Amino acid sequence: MSLPRPKNLIRPLVHDLHAYVPGEQPKIKGLIKLNTNENPYPPSPKVLRAVKAAVDGRLRLYPNPTAEKLRAKLAIFHGCQPENILAGNGSDEVLALAVRGFVEPAKNPKSKIQNPKLLVQYFTPSYSLYSVLADTHGAVKNAVALNADFSLPSVAELQRGGQWNFHAALTLVTTPNAPSGRGYSTAELEKLCRAQKGVVILDEAYVDFANENALKLALKFPHVLVARTFSKAYSLCFQRVGYFVGHAELIAALDKMRDSYNVNGLGQIAAEATLDDLKFYRANFKKIISTRARLARELTKCGFRVLPSATNFILAKPPLFPAEAWLEKLRAKKILVRWFSAPAVKDYLRITIGTEAEAQSLVQAVKDVIRDA
Ligand SMILES: *Cc1c(COP(=O)(O)O)cnc(C)c1O
Repeated sequence: MSLPRPKNLIRPLVHDLHAYVPGEQPKIKGLIKLNTNENPYPPSPKVLRAVKAAVDGRLRLYPNPTAEKLRAKLAIFHGCQPENILAGNGSDEVLALAVRGFVEPAKNPKSKIQNPKLLVQYFTPSYSLYSVLADTHGAVKNAVALNADFSLPSVAELQRGGQWNFHAALTLVTTPNAPSGRGYSTAELEKLCRAQKGVVILDEAYVDFANENALKLALKFPHVLVARTFSKAYSLCFQRVGYFVGHAELIAALDKMRDSYNVNGLGQIAAEATLDDLKFYRANFKKIISTRARLARELTKCGFRVLPSATNFILAKPPLFPAEAWLEKLRAKKILVRWFSAPAVKDYLRITIGTEAEAQSLVQAVKDVIRDA
């Protein structure tokens, strides 16, 4: 009797999947890491103390299954009820839950004629995880281009374009946008939300570096969820804590689908302590925003075309060499930035705003590359 072949045990959909490609986490020491939009500043001393104090024999216990304290604190922070909050293992997890909870898998995801109930819709370029989540679920994707300057098409423009679906089961908007860095006004987001009949997720991973946020839309509309994360602005990528804010019925639906202990215990403690020390983080946002302005000025002087940013990174078109070549030249100088091959952004580098000193090192490296050209 022959044993089964692993390949034949895997669903065809999964067999053909392309996993999300995360930015590199280099093993080499001494690299300046400006490639994954991590915060260059460590968590507050109070957060580190709270986490350290929790590392003892209690690690044998299960954490609170509903992240009860964290959700209570978040509810106060956002002026809503704990029932309006779903916490997850990073916002990536809650985004995945939304695809599973709101979108029907398709019999044939590649077929041309599709029911909007099967549709995951988003703009390009935006967060590249969305297409992976749709593919994993067997949903149908509708990826619609942003305007050439990465601004959000108006509802009228979307109607005229004919590709956008106002009935899509799920629409995902990265706001402020990644990888362009461009911010969107709450007024324009509200118009888009009003036009959509399905669920709209406003993915605000970078919103603490922007001038305004759209959280009120999640509390005003029954079909709008705002996604937030402790990763970027609150220096907690390692701990994996993110959440949705939105209508209690949508939240309760997703709550039924999540893993029983989806937010790890140390993550809950770190996130709770973060909310007790917001002043510390607001000072970091200020520093990052001022470094962003200075870096944009310096790179512009070096001949880069730097796009306006409402995030903790900038998208910049370098001079003299293709962006991909710049990636290697900077890497040779021990500075890691990000380059994406997608046509709309292939001429740009995405550069995370580091500390003031890291930004200065980047500018020096850029000047050296230009001098040796
Ligand atoms: C980083 C990022 C996330 C993921 O955040 P986690 O909470 O770390 O999973 C979600 N959306 C966007 C746009 C991001 O850049």
